[in-house]
Amino acid sequence: MNTPAFLDSPSPVADAPLRSLAGATRAELAAALIEIGAPEREIRMRTAQLWHWIYHQGVASFDDMLNVSKVFRGRLKERFTLARPQIVAEQVSSDGTRKWLIRLDPTHAKDRGAEVECVYIPEEDRGTLCVSSQVGCTLTCAFCHTGTQKLVRNLTAQEIITQVLIARDRLGDFPGGARPADGFVPGGEYRAVSNVVFMGMGEPLYNFDNVRDALGVLSDGDGLSLSKRRITVSTAGVVPRLNDLGAETGAMLAISLHAVRDELRDRLVPLNKKYPIAELLQACRTYPGASNARRITFEYVMLKGINDSPAEARELVRLLKGVPAKINLIPFNPWPGTVFECSDDATIGAFSDIVFNAGYASPVRTPRGRDILAACGQLKSETEKLRARALLAAGA
Ligand code: SAH
Repeated sequence: MNTPAFLDSPSPVADAPLRSLAGATRAELAAALIEIGAPEREIRMRTAQLWHWIYHQGVASFDDMLNVSKVFRGRLKERFTLARPQIVAEQVSSDGTRKWLIRLDPTHAKDRGAEVECVYIPEEDRGTLCVSSQVGCTLTCAFCHTGTQKLVRNLTAQEIITQVLIARDRLGDFPGGARPADGFVPGGEYRAVSNVVFMGMGEPLYNFDNVRDALGVLSDGDGLSLSKRRITVSTAGVVPRLNDLGAETGAMLAISLHAVRDELRDRLVPLNKKYPIAELLQACRTYPGASNARRITFEYVMLKGINDSPAEARELVRLLKGVPAKINLIPFNPWPGTVFECSDDATIGAFSDIVFNAGYASPVRTPRGRDILAACGQLKSETEKLRARALLAAGA
């Protein structure tokens, strides 16, 4: 094979640190190829090649890219890697739920070594990955532990996408991969990661551009190929961004409603002061792509004596008239220091019956991974405990 002329010229950025292309968008891959001097006319073809290897095959080394010439692979390796952010800790719950603590790539982040958590929830015929969109969160919802975390920054699209790559690596979900020996992962005829929910740390719609770009990569049919119907973005209700989310991504929408009166919702989800319930529901009525076949999920955390009365259940049903909705009742997951308690089973049952009798599916979300603190709103606590333990162990 003829060596293309550009490969003979010295790399202009030979001394820069290696950058990972795992989790890169198509535009970032094209830019990387231009950076190493690939001729304009090859960019499209080369991008498609890299894309296939990175996202369809899941390779973590350029040397595995069999149809890419050795010379070209060498050129890529001078400048780039396919390294993933490191899994600092993995915990496997007795119910098969897994939680990973992920140290973000220090060469990409403004901060050094920021960490996020990512949770995998297996079921018989599917597996759901709960990803984070920010380190920490600015919303300070009263019942959520993440809101008390100090450091807050947006994740890059790459940092969102690599959560999925890491999970698929670990779960043997790429061609040739093997399921882990421990815990439970759906069998080989099912994808280990079939669904992705943006219900980890952060408010995805306050990181709109990166979430949108990440969704584009996750749902790309030549790569990770996750169906958009199986990707759900959960928001506390950033009203001005809802339409963009539907129009630009086609993702499924979940709304953290949690209260049916503004006065209470102002206290539970302070973002409500900016975007009150009526405005939020109006934006849901016009959410692009919502239909009876593609319903919006309304999340409602069950807080004892706060929002769990039969009257509130009836009001919920009334409010959601005209919205293609399903309702997801979430038992509150307590965390150390919280003033809230979870409603008791009978109260949740009565609430659920009212919603169900009004014609809504109203599943009560089964708490998963409670023994490893992997449940909603708890992702932060364990990280901090691990940190404290590590500091103690180091004698700090
Ligand atoms: N910021 C986004 C996504 C993150 S939280 C949002 O607000 O939707 C994902 C879901 O978990 C939200 O519905 C949130 O309100 C809920 N949640 C947070 N803390 C919780 C807790 N301690 N118990 C139960 N659900 C909680």
